[in-house]
Amino acid sequence: MKRSLIMLSALIALTACTSSSTGRKQVMLFSESELDTMGAASFEEMKKKTPISTDKATNDFVQCVAKSITQNVSKSVHKGDWEVIVFDSPQVNAFALPGGKIGVYTGILNVTENQDQLGAIIGHEVGHVIEHHSNERLSANKLQNMGMAAASTAVGMSDIENKDLWMAGLGLGIQYGVIMPYGRSHESEADIVGQDLMARSGFEPSASIQLWQNMAKLSKNSPAEFMSTHPSNETRIKQLTEHLPSSMALYQLGNRPSCVKPKVISTPKK
Ligand SMILES: [Zn+2]
Repeated sequence: MKRSLIMLSALIALTACTSSSTGRKQVMLFSESELDTMGAASFEEMKKKTPISTDKATNDFVQCVAKSITQNVSKSVHKGDWEVIVFDSPQVNAFALPGGKIGVYTGILNVTENQDQLGAIIGHEVGHVIEHHSNERLSANKLQNMGMAAASTAVGMSDIENKDLWMAGLGLGIQYGVIMPYGRSHESEADIVGQDLMARSGFEPSASIQLWQNMAKLSKNSPAEFMSTHPSNETRIKQLTEHLPSSMALYQLGNRPSCVKPKVISTPKK
């Protein structure tokens, strides 16, 4: 017990000296390539379990917005192309994973009125990846589990026993398709980073505020998954409004994309 505590503190001392871009101290126990492997494996799993949209106009719209965002993400976050999939599901949700993976559900496209609001969603999700939130959460899970069954250190495709744990750590529920909540500090950091990123990508940054107002309206009628997993929308509208002048300074009108939202988004019934 004592020995594992010493090892644990050594491990934290070795890895804890990082900070996020908003200045939060981060404990990260996994390497980027481990995270990329987990992200890619989880994404493959999602693609097997969830129908993929084949509607051309819908795919073109999502690809166009996603590309506009990801081309402004540092290569240190992900080197190659990003893989973007539109899932044919009424869920009001979207996610991004380490390893350059983005999933958007058709259900959320009925809430995003235009390219700017979808830019806000994708900017936010990619913000979680840029700030290594999955690594932090997986590390927290691992620290909790240390001492129990000599926590498995190797993370590989064969590590099936822990697959549900990684998927939860990556923000994907054990029942595939359910996005687990990140903590409040992660959410607010992804909001700030996402708003700056959308602005640099040529999306009108105030659209992030309209988006959350739409979400708030929607949740009055029927609680949406995205809302229940992404907490406190009054706080986030307030924070996004406060941050707007900084992101307006980054707004690159010259980069403005022209991604056309199709008139009708076909969404399967629940
Ligand atoms: Zn989030």
